[in-house]
Amino acid sequence: MTADHAVVSGGAGFIGRRVVSSLLDRGWRVTVLDNLFTSRTELLADLRERPGFEFREQDVSRPLVVGGDVSHVLHLASPASPIDFPSIPIQIVKVGTLGTHNMLGLALAKGARFLLASTSEVYGDPLVHPQPESYWGNVNPIGPRGCYDESKRCAEAFAMAYNRAHGLDTRIVRIFNTYGPGMRLDDGRVVPNFVGQALRGEPLTVYGDGSQTRSFTYVDDLVAGMLAVLDRGDDHQPFNIGNPVETTVLEFARRIIALTGSKSEIVFRPLPVDDPKQRCPDIGRARMLLGWEPAVQLEDGLARTVEYFREAIRA
Ligand code: NAD
Ligand code: UDP
Repeated sequence: MTADHAVVSGGAGFIGRRVVSSLLDRGWRVTVLDNLFTSRTELLADLRERPGFEFREQDVSRPLVVGGDVSHVLHLASPASPIDFPSIPIQIVKVGTLGTHNMLGLALAKGARFLLASTSEVYGDPLVHPQPESYWGNVNPIGPRGCYDESKRCAEAFAMAYNRAHGLDTRIVRIFNTYGPGMRLDDGRVVPNFVGQALRGEPLTVYGDGSQTRSFTYVDDLVAGMLAVLDRGDDHQPFNIGNPVETTVLEFARRIIALTGSKSEIVFRPLPVDDPKQRCPDIGRARMLLGWEPAVQLEDGLARTVEYFREAIRA
């Protein structure tokens, strides 16, 4: 076991559990701080068996104390599904702002490297396509997505402020739509919705006319990219980590039906307010500076995800 000790907020979540597992693979100690807002303690069963793992139920928007040395602080805590935006907007703003402040304070006190899980939502409904990190975005601060988008933008500003004012070693990863085994069936995002609907023989609910686009990243690729950002020498500028293969939501629904062999139909539902019309990462920076690019084809990643959801529905 090395002297490395990472504190990971949101480490009980879909992406967090994969990140924690990879850090434990390195022989690091890992302390997860999570209030289980969008996760469940049972999902930590495998991690709890592993040496070096510790879980603390903690709302990171509230003051927090961690004893001993800490080498890395990763701030992943935040509800991330648009279905949560109308019901818990205040908690979302708080974890992106107060939570980020608390986690930065922890990193500063411990002299630790800090990594922020930011999002492609900082680009809002983008007017530049695909989106490079240099694009400042097109976000509605007062719309229903504002609680998430603006708190993540504030989180990035907070990280840069700590870097400039205190010389804190900060990292920012802008995560694009990520999917894979381990997502909650009732998460509300498009992959669990469509796969769950197809497997149950229910209609797939396409919002709007389905012409909006997204680019889907398999979770293993995302985690590899995040850790490459964490490990990279002095670089505090954001990195887009996502798969630049773009698809319309309607094409995506048809693909899921074909892949699952489902007889489900497609139905159209109203488009949520401010739903971004297009989203695709420019990953030139990650390719050049990290030597990172996605390795898992959509077809393969979706096949693994469908198998996972098939089991989850049977259970
Ligand atoms: P998730 O909902 O599965 O995980 C988030 C975790 O944060 C959960 O375990 C939840 O309980 C915890 N949490 C929420 N509020 C908290 C608080 N106040 N204190 C402590 N813990 C809290 O979501 P995910 O998809 O794993 O997302 C992880 C991170 O990645 C989030 O910051 C999200 O914004 C970001 N992200 C994810 C995606 C994606 O496609 N999955 C895309 C962009 C950004
Ligand atoms: N979407 C859809 N049907 C669903 C869920 C989502 O058509 O049942 C659409 C949604 O309107 C958006 C895209 O799929 O255009 C991705 O939605 P998701 O909630 O996964 O994440 P977002 O990228 O909007 O944050």
